[in-house]
Amino acid sequence: MDPRPKRGPNFLEEIIAQDLEDGVVQEVVTRFPPEPNGYLHIGHAKSICLNFGLAEKFGGRCNLRFDDTNPAKEDQEYVEAIQEDVRWLGFQWDRLCFASDYFDQFYRWAQELVQKGLAYVDFQTPEEIRRTRGTLTEIGVESPYRDTPPEENLRLLERMRNGEFEEGQCVLRAKIDMKSPNLNMRDPVIYRILKRPHHRTGDRWCIYPMYDFAHGYEDAIEGVTHSICTLEFQDHRPLYDWFLDNVSVPHRPRQYEFARLNLSHTVMSKRKLLELVESRIVSGWDDPRMPTISGLRRRGYTPSSIRRFCDEIGVAKADSLVDVELLQHCLREELNKTAPRRMAVLNPLKLTIVNWPEGHIDLVEAENNPEDPSAGTRPLPFGRDLYIEAEDFMVSPPKGYFRLFPGSEVRLKHGYLVRYVDHREEDGRVVEVLVEADLESRGGEAPDGRRIKGTLHWVNAHHCVPITARLYDHLFTLRDMSRMEEGKDYKDYLNPSSLVEVKGLGEESLRDAEPLAGIQFLRHGYFCLDPSSTREELIFNRSVPLKDSWAKAKGKG
Ligand code: ATP
Ligand code: MG
Repeated sequence: MDPRPKRGPNFLEEIIAQDLEDGVVQEVVTRFPPEPNGYLHIGHAKSICLNFGLAEKFGGRCNLRFDDTNPAKEDQEYVEAIQEDVRWLGFQWDRLCFASDYFDQFYRWAQELVQKGLAYVDFQTPEEIRRTRGTLTEIGVESPYRDTPPEENLRLLERMRNGEFEEGQCVLRAKIDMKSPNLNMRDPVIYRILKRPHHRTGDRWCIYPMYDFAHGYEDAIEGVTHSICTLEFQDHRPLYDWFLDNVSVPHRPRQYEFARLNLSHTVMSKRKLLELVESRIVSGWDDPRMPTISGLRRRGYTPSSIRRFCDEIGVAKADSLVDVELLQHCLREELNKTAPRRMAVLNPLKLTIVNWPEGHIDLVEAENNPEDPSAGTRPLPFGRDLYIEAEDFMVSPPKGYFRLFPGSEVRLKHGYLVRYVDHREEDGRVVEVLVEADLESRGGEAPDGRRIKGTLHWVNAHHCVPITARLYDHLFTLRDMSRMEEGKDYKDYLNPSSLVEVKGLGEESLRDAEPLAGIQFLRHGYFCLDPSSTREELIFNRSVPLKDSWAKAKGKG
């Protein structure tokens, strides 16, 4: 049973339903348009789920389009990683498109604007262009090149294209309105010179179109009906429309804006994520602490848990900050139903059962998942020499400590009840605890029904495998990274204990763990085998701890 209230249609679903009803569009076409200048992150997942989800819901199509108009920052590596991530999330695009395939058409439309007297080549320096643009309170100043006749501009544009000018020497600008209250409309740049090879078009071009000019045309070429972007582009919409209205396009798309996803304790700007990678603050784009799709995958996230998260946060028109605990909650709920349970001791302390015969093994039955009886059971070798968690024994415990201490009796999960006998210390540290088992309590129940509160997990000292557990915490200590203190850099907020590595021991079945498949280590949380593991070194990433602080806070837990 899902207790969530059913959500009504979001504002985009309402718009599309209306457009279909009114016959404004026959078929819904959306697109997800990443720039291949980095790996996808959880914010992109929101856009992916939205664009592909709308197409699916209304029986339309969604393209994956690479907005590859800036060769200075783009790379084929990203093109491939992005496709892998979209597929992994469970979506299949209708067409795979590249903005760079439209460079010829873009150029023809630029010529059309020039011919109509709606664009001009400006030889002011970049600094002059910036300065004369004006501010929110001050109108802009028209360029001295603004009234060059169209025929002359056409020739200059051709020469720009032919590489006759240097980078920064001139740009092509739209001729709109230097007095517009919307700064985006003050003769924005259409083309700039970049003498860099492009990862797809090589050195065929040395002028590249700007985002605002290219984006609507990309949509027009592909027949996109609803071009959905984040709120920052709301003020660019008049420009989006202006470019489309002033040349002969084959189709007229519309732009709609929604609130981007901001997640607590992380940054999502690709520039910053790239810096974290390049400065080796993280191990790569797929470091399990990264908010990237590949990082989440390596952390143990499943596509369905991410889709569920995107569904939970919904689609709105106001920016907000979503707690990362909600994302963790979505994974935890799923893994609770699906993940097999295993025992691992992350900080081992020797436990010896003094009344257990040396060398004797009792194979006890352990259920694989109490939430799923069909997952069956597995045999576990109970014996005289075990390890328990060091934190599960205290010489003088505080009130309310129900684990092992002088005088107490505890249950060893799936095994027997054991009672404290003695312990050994070396250099002031407890190194071994001696206990006596109630040999009549196989399975963990006292024959006389006495109540035992504490249950500990354990591994058999002679039948276990060494493991490395990587315990992750937030990458940044500040919850809302958009609210950094004046003068501080985002790197000032790095959490020094975002990764803690511990050496532990696990039950032998962990040797058969599949990379990335969720496993619950009893009392520790959900883990998955890191793909870099070898038979000699089994590395487990903690995907999410067991404690559900989010559900508790919301009164659900
Ligand atoms: P950056 O500014 O860091 O380079 P970007 O937003 O420009 O990131 P793109 O590759 O252009 O990255 O984004 C592709 C699509 O994903 C865009 O349509 C954009 O609106 C959307 N998107 C990016 N970040 C988010 C986010 N945090 N929440 C929702 N959608 C996002
Ligand atoms: Mg962008």
